[in-house]
Amino acid sequence: MADIELRNLTKRFGDLVAVDSVDLDVEAGEVMCLLGPSGCGKTTTLRMIGGLEWATEGDIFIAGKLVNNLKPAQRDIAMVFQFYALYPSLTVTENLAFPLHAEKVDKAEIERRVTRIARILELDHALNRIPGRLSEGEKQRVAVGRAIIRNPQCFLFDEPLSRLDIALRQEMRGQIKMLLADLNKASVIVTHDQIEALTIGDRIAVMRDGLIEQVASPHEIFASPANVFVAGFIGTPQMNLIAGRSTKPGGGGGLGLSLCNQDIALPLAPDAAAAGAEVTVGVRPRGFDLASESAADTLSGRVDLIEPMGAETLLHLKTEAEELRVVTDHRSAPAHGANVHVRPRAGQIHLFDEHGGRIGA
Ligand code: ATP
Repeated sequence: MADIELRNLTKRFGDLVAVDSVDLDVEAGEVMCLLGPSGCGKTTTLRMIGGLEWATEGDIFIAGKLVNNLKPAQRDIAMVFQFYALYPSLTVTENLAFPLHAEKVDKAEIERRVTRIARILELDHALNRIPGRLSEGEKQRVAVGRAIIRNPQCFLFDEPLSRLDIALRQEMRGQIKMLLADLNKASVIVTHDQIEALTIGDRIAVMRDGLIEQVASPHEIFASPANVFVAGFIGTPQMNLIAGRSTKPGGGGGLGLSLCNQDIALPLAPDAAAAGAEVTVGVRPRGFDLASESAADTLSGRVDLIEPMGAETLLHLKTEAEELRVVTDHRSAPAHGANVHVRPRAGQIHLFDEHGGRIGA
């Protein structure tokens, strides 16, 4: 039995279906990230789990108990929001201890838990300060500490790091990951930041238009996206998604395709797509090798734009039909206007059918 179970969970706002028949299990000790573009229904899903929004249809179980009709306070959950509200006149110690006073926990136990949380979140030095004398990162850590100090059944985070600058985010991602691993509870984190989801999540649920498109580990989402939406959403720079048609037979024994108005044989099973089938080929910008000359397994294009990225360089290649994004080592980057040939690397090629669904493992 999972700690959080969503069954056919649906939320309508008038005619708008914000969350559409979502099924999701989050196990004890698991961190599930809800990831997707703005408006896809992440926050509404989280708010329904937390009891801040009623479900239009479907069921929510926490630790096996149906909680649809329970108020937030009766669900034994802790929530951390983007806009944390600390008590401005209370010290960090008092802010952290606040939920425990409400639960009438005894003084020695309060002291023990505050000390432990402050140590984990590196707040020891600031225990006697009021929020007005804390940095943004410290305030956010107090908000996280106050949520987890009660030892609830599960944790819900809504964009917990979005207000922090990049350096602090990076630091707090690590801290939150360690903290949650220690607690062994089910956690759901809403984010639109894919790096956050890939680094913190044990699994990621990618959402679009109220639907879950794929639920899988960060590695699987990246290595085997279930469809073109997930493929294009995860990974920077964005995966090339090239419309093509299967032609037979493939030269060199691979899968013959017409891509970018060029004939190419890709190192895939020759029967991966039927002759004449419309497909989309996905190759990440780092999934190409530069070739010295045109060949049966290369695509050619002209360097239209060069974006230096430090050790690597992002090339935009103009072909007859589409633009290709290719990442190379900055030392081997060709010049602007050069005609270059790129070879999609075996094992780095994703094939999708006419409906955008993945073909093959
Ligand atoms: P964001 O990342 O921008 O917060 P999200 O994925 O969390 O987006 P939600 O906030 O869950 O998306 O919203 C899903 C859809 O439901 C959106 O179209 C939004 O406008 C709509 N919506 C959310 N709350 C309400 C509400 N109270 N009344 C009407 N529509 C709402």
